[in-house]
Formats: sequence, C-alpha cells, structure tokens
Amino acid sequence: MEGEKKQVERITAREEDFAQWYTDVVTKAELIHYSSVKGCVILRPDGYAIWENIQRNLDRLFKETGVENVSLPLLIPEHLLQKEKDHVEGFAPEVAWVTLGGEETLSERLCIRPTSETLFCDFYADIIQSYRELPKLYNQWCSVVRWEKTTRPFLRSTEFLWQEGHTAHATEEEARERTLQMLNLYADFCEEYLAIPVIKGEKTQKEKFAGAKSTYTIEALMHDGKALQSATSHLFGDGFAKAFSIRYSDKNNVLQYVHQTSWGLSTRIIGALIMVHGDDSGLILPPKIAPIQIMLIPIQTKKEGIVVKLQEWENQLSKVFRVKADYSDKSPGWKFNEQEMRGIPLRLELGPRDLQNQQMTAVRRDTGEKISIPFSHLEQKVKELLDDIQDSLLQKANKHLENHIYEAKSYEEFKQLIASKPGIVKMMWCEQENCEKQIKEETGASSRCIPFQQESLGEKCPVCHQAAKKMVYWGKAY
Ligand SMILES: [Zn+2]
Repeated sequence: MEGEKKQVERITAREEDFAQWYTDVVTKAELIHYSSVKGCVILRPDGYAIWENIQRNLDRLFKETGVENVSLPLLIPEHLLQKEKDHVEGFAPEVAWVTLGGEETLSERLCIRPTSETLFCDFYADIIQSYRELPKLYNQWCSVVRWEKTTRPFLRSTEFLWQEGHTAHATEEEARERTLQMLNLYADFCEEYLAIPVIKGEKTQKEKFAGAKSTYTIEALMHDGKALQSATSHLFGDGFAKAFSIRYSDKNNVLQYVHQTSWGLSTRIIGALIMVHGDDSGLILPPKIAPIQIMLIPIQTKKEGIVVKLQEWENQLSKVFRVKADYSDKSPGWKFNEQEMRGIPLRLELGPRDLQNQQMTAVRRDTGEKISIPFSHLEQKVKELLDDIQDSLLQKANKHLENHIYEAKSYEEFKQLIASKPGIVKMMWCEQENCEKQIKEETGASSRCIPFQQESLGEKCPVCHQAAKKMVYWGKAY
C-alpha cells in the first residue's frame, strides 16, 4: 500500500498553498504536460476531452442561435492590425511576429493572431454589400498566441484554444442585442453545464477590450476568493467598420456602416472548473462535462463472476452514460485514488459481497457518500445520483459566491475587506478612471464589472467623495 497512496499524498492541501494545489492538480490529474516552449502546454487526453465536451455543447448552443463556423488564417499582415488604433495599441505588447519565410525576409511582417477582429473585418469588407446579406453570424474555433510574461496552465498561456464569434449587423440596436444574447448564453452554459455561477455585468472603460465600445463579462469566484473573468462579449458599434470600410447598401440604396460584435470563451474556463469544484483529493468534474461520468471498479478481479458481471454492466451503462472500467491488476485502493484525482463523478464498486447481494456500491466523488444500489434499480439510481451531483455542485458554488460578496460604504472599510476577506466587494463609484486606478494601486483589487443588478449603497464615491454613478464589484483576480 506504500506506493499506492503516493499519488494523493503529493497533492498540496488547498488551505496550505492554493497555487501549488492548482499546479499539482493540473499535472497529477494529467490534464496538461509542460512543453518545451515556455508558456505553452500540451493538453493530455483528459484535459482535451474536457475541452471537447465544452466545445461540443457550446457549439450546439451557438448554432441554435444561427451562428455558422468558419476558419480564418493564423497570420495577420501588419497593415491590417494597424487599421484600428485602439486595437493595435491594446495588443501590440503581446504580439508574436513572423519576419522570415524560409530564408527570405518578408516585405511585410505577419503577426500570429492574438485575436482575429482585423481578419474578420477585412473579410466582411469584401463579402458584405447589401442589407440582404446581414446579419453575418460567424464563429471560429482555433488557437491564438499572446506573448505573456508570466504564464500558468489554462489561466494564462502563450498559446491557448478558444472560440471567437464575430458578427456584423445592420443596426447598433441589433448588434447590442446579439452582444447580450451571447453573454447570457455563456452565463447559462456555465451554470447549467459547468455548475459555475457567474456575475453578469459591464466592464469599465479602463478594463474594456481594445477597440470596443462596451465589453460585457461574466465573472466567477474561485475557491480562494479570487475572481476569474470567464467569458466576454464586446459591442464594437461601427468603429471597426469605419476603419475597415465595411459598408452595405440599405433598402433605400444608401451606403451604411455595419455594427459589429465579438465574443469569446477559452480553455481558461477549465482553470475555473478546477478552482471552483476541486478538493484536496484532486479534481471534481460536474457530470454534464466530465469525459468519464462513471468508473467501474472490481474489488477482486480473480474472484469468479465479478469481472464478467462488471463487463455486463459496463456494456449496459455505456448505452446511456460515459463509462470506463478498470480491470487492471492495480489494487482497488490505487484505482480509487486515481478516480478521485481525475474527478470522475461516480464510482461503482463490485465486490464478492455485492455480487452475492445482487448490488453495487456507488461512491460519490463530491461528498464521498457510499450508497448500495440493487442491480434492479442500477440504471435509474445512477442517473438520479449524477443529476444530484450536478445540482449539488452548483448549489455549493452558489453558496460560496453568496458568502464571499461584501459591501463597503467607506474606502477604509473597503481596504480592510480586500486585505482580510477573500472575495468580492461592492462599492459605489464616480465613474472616473483616477479612482479606479487608485483603488488598484493601493489595494490590488481591480474593477471586475458594473453588475446589471445595480444597488444604491450611498450617494458619494467613497474614494473622491464626488457623486457616485454606479455600484461596482471589485476584487483580486486571475
Ligand atoms: Zn471617485
């Protein structure tokens, strides 16, 4: 048993060192492997399978709203990137450039896409002519490169996978509707599939996307009380359209600029999944997104009938659930540890006594609870358990979020809360960037969002004592 427990023992406890716990989980649960390029990771089968499930579900939800997938080039000519001033300023510090083709110096540098607004705009300028072709609702699944100085798997990588939706509309009203529609779609997806509750709101002007008119965000709260921006949706208005001359002739044959949006969710969300649900034994995956929902483990592989019976159940359950069985000669204890580390929501054990009693022993990953289930009710009961695990994880995360939102009426109170209570602090704000900068410099907390659900906590901005305009959620963030 000595060697068997090691895999779990090597995980640092969350309360001891949360950052180290995170690193332990992503590597020991075999989600990623570090590559030879700094800041770029290899997604191992379990890590990639989580992304595939996210992608599959999200892609279906996108398409239900009329979105179509396209694929644009990896490289962007420099002159295109330069066209929208705010956009290029925002991204210039983290762009990687291709300057050589073979041995030849290129006459124009090509950047590796950090995001593809400019390519989509160039494309839209070519293909949009009439109001009849609007709206254009395109999305692409791809990877992008941002030259980050400090990197962490999933949370901040030099190269990462994501989807970027880019739409073009006849009116700003329609574009705004689409921006919010996609934000709501992301929020619902996070809650329903990932069991992660989120706060919806608008970014401040300082925190908005380079080139956007408004940026909307969903913010989630991690176990350690830090916030994580989980997806964003941007309204561009006609700023990019003017820079790229994307025009259509309206019903009266008058040329008009299109109004655009973009919206994205990346593998960063896997970091949220880990940090919201995981515990000191490893990952905990919500059943709806788990690549494997049920792990079948024989307690004595040599005992007659056990493996045969388990194989029967493996075949039966596989018709309805994502199932894996481990018939290897590793000990049951080792297999339990592995299943816990990988976050597989439910374990079904079959031992000699279970076989005698015509039952299996189910063990929930989220609570550790053991339940004996007669063969006669197995399929139904397993379904109920998986549903209950999904619900319980969301409830638990909801409670964690509610319990970590604080309210500050004075700046003193705010500073004290940020320093002593991990979580999010609500405070009024005058909408001036100076106050926002001061708060960030003095407390390390950034404005997470101006939530859609506004409250009035006072008349004045506690920092400058001028008239307050908005209530803002502040917090330390990944
Ligand atoms: Zn102020």
